[in-house]
Amino acid sequence: MSRADRAESALRPLSIDRMAAWPALAPLKERAGHKLLVETLRAFVEAARGTQAVADEAACALWCAERLASLLEPSQRVVFNLTGTVLHTNLGRALLAEEAIEAAVAAMRSPTTLEYDLSGGARGERDDHVAPWLCRLTSAEAATAVNNNAGAVLIALAALAAGKEVIVSRGELIEIGGAFRIPDIMARAGCRLVEVGTTNRTHLKDYEAAIGPETAAIMKVHPSNYAVQGFTKSVSAAELVPLAHARGIPVIEDLGSGTLVDLETWGLPHEPTAREAIEAGIDVVTFSGDKLLGGPQAGLIVGKKAFIQRIAKNPLKRALRLDKVRLAALEATLRLYADPEKLVRRVPTIRALARPSQEIRAAAERLLPAFTAAVGQDYTTGIQSVRGQIGSGALPVDLLPSFALAARGKRIDRLSDAFRKLPVPVIGRIEDGALLLDLRTLDDEAGFAAQLGALKP
Ligand SMILES: *Cc1c(COP(=O)(O)O)cnc(C)c1O
Repeated sequence: MSRADRAESALRPLSIDRMAAWPALAPLKERAGHKLLVETLRAFVEAARGTQAVADEAACALWCAERLASLLEPSQRVVFNLTGTVLHTNLGRALLAEEAIEAAVAAMRSPTTLEYDLSGGARGERDDHVAPWLCRLTSAEAATAVNNNAGAVLIALAALAAGKEVIVSRGELIEIGGAFRIPDIMARAGCRLVEVGTTNRTHLKDYEAAIGPETAAIMKVHPSNYAVQGFTKSVSAAELVPLAHARGIPVIEDLGSGTLVDLETWGLPHEPTAREAIEAGIDVVTFSGDKLLGGPQAGLIVGKKAFIQRIAKNPLKRALRLDKVRLAALEATLRLYADPEKLVRRVPTIRALARPSQEIRAAAERLLPAFTAAVGQDYTTGIQSVRGQIGSGALPVDLLPSFALAARGKRIDRLSDAFRKLPVPVIGRIEDGALLLDLRTLDDEAGFAAQLGALKP
């Protein structure tokens, strides 16, 4: 071979099969499998065409390892949520109690009595695993569960008011985010929205004037993610229910977060409980499973038997039903509510919300030296008193007093990036030019500290 021929052949790719047998690629092949490796090699040959690298075993191994890294690690990564928002929708909301995790894992591994009645060997109802608990905990007559609260609102409206009118206050025509807008859901459920009152004030007489022969329901919506302040008036369930019932109309309430326990127990401001809504006479109450309740994603519907039965029989129920894994986790979570004293220790959401701020401060003091060393000399650090949020629409204006590790410096975005690039990414927030890591939600202090050495600020 002439020198020119040799130079030219070095630029020519080998066959993919021969490259796949390169010893330097053996560990990648072991992890990714032959098929993914071949796909990656083709991409390499394309990218390296006409360069020396195309026949370079070491260069190829490096390129393929980088390319495959993102495919080999899960797309949904575990992170530290130090944003200060306890129920962060983008970070997956509530963390489950160990009891719920175990129940879910067991249900994943084995067949279960999801829709099977062991005593008679006959078909059972999947709602039966959670409905008795929901009734006990809210004092409702009946209950059912669907995929999420948006689904709960949709099916309740479709089952009880399709083709008819539903009255809602203009102050409650909310958008939750992710395209959940009450007027749109109404339209999808086939109902006609009748708006009453104004943005800041709605009176009982506004509802009264709107009731007509086409009215199928009155709906109340918890304005979860904003608050109207100042010259305001909304009509409470206690006022609305007698009017509606006197006219033979049911009242539906979307509680949003909805809690099963009074948050005041832990020194937090009041958030409406599902039991209060039922006791006020609301006919159908809907709320989320993965917000303040601290369970898996679910939409819970409790209320009067006749209405719940209509909802459970609606064809949408099949489209919105819960799977056995989430039902197992939900049942286990609800069971914990039977003993409210244990909630703080067992349900991570409640634990985070109830955590005393002195305890958070103590954690910040323990971590500050390692944090300071890790971020390096370009940043000044300290412990900052901050205000966090419950998130997911609970108590939008009441902020949770907490403590954060704080870093200030010129390139704060870069530091925030570096924390996101840690083996277990750390998500904080930037406020007034400082990176803040709110420690209210830090459960695994040792795990957080152990990886600080890997930070590349
Ligand atoms: C969060 C929320 C919803 C949507 O609940 P998902 O469980 O996320 O579907 C609906 N209504 C209100 C008032 C909410 O706060």
